[in-house]
Amino acid sequence: MVNLLRFSRDFFNLFYPQLCAACSRTLNSGEKFVCAACLWRMPKTGFHLEHDNPVIRRFWGKVTIESAASFAFFDKGEAIQHILHSLKYAGNKELGIFLGELYGSLLKQSPLFSTCEAIIPVPLHRKKIKSRGYNQSVLIAEGLSKVMGIPFYQNFIERTVATSTQTQKSRYARFENVENVFRIKEKAVSARHLLLVDDVITTGSTLESCARCVAEAGNIKISIATIACVE
Ligand SMILES: [Zn+2]
Repeated sequence: MVNLLRFSRDFFNLFYPQLCAACSRTLNSGEKFVCAACLWRMPKTGFHLEHDNPVIRRFWGKVTIESAASFAFFDKGEAIQHILHSLKYAGNKELGIFLGELYGSLLKQSPLFSTCEAIIPVPLHRKKIKSRGYNQSVLIAEGLSKVMGIPFYQNFIERTVATSTQTQKSRYARFENVENVFRIKEKAVSARHLLLVDDVITTGSTLESCARCVAEAGNIKISIATIACVE
């Protein structure tokens, strides 16, 4: 029943994008994608202003990360879950760009992220792009790029292994699952400080694996930004 309701809402949003992606209320003329009340209530982390925060700590002792931050805490059943669901499964591509712009306006003002020169979205395997039609991280990267005024490269790295859905797996299995699944595809990126971008961070194992791959390019600083983080 819940799935059916979710499906109806997603289907509805697809054709009536003037509804809030979080609460499905009709948006006012000045609102875009998410209503002001949902945006206001969203539990923001403020991590873009703290060098030492719970997101960067996930990489301690594993891979060197300059700065890491997430826009909001992931709350099950709350606005942020509906938004990410709509972005990932309901074809709401403009929402991804909007979220990138939203977070980009904060990152742009943060000294921790001001030296980022290019954005790299975490790639999906081509099979997944084929079935979903798009990579939500690329959309977020596009929005960030617009606002931060730096380019994004979606072909710098590629995902070589199609991993199964990770939600049911243990932390250890998840780590095993994403090791060595990325590979540098196009070396022609001259930027020396790259911002890796994903929609959500859970254990951090996917981003860790991705960062290890990017680091192989040599002499590169890596920072990380996601829209949500699971506590
Ligand atoms: Zn709303």
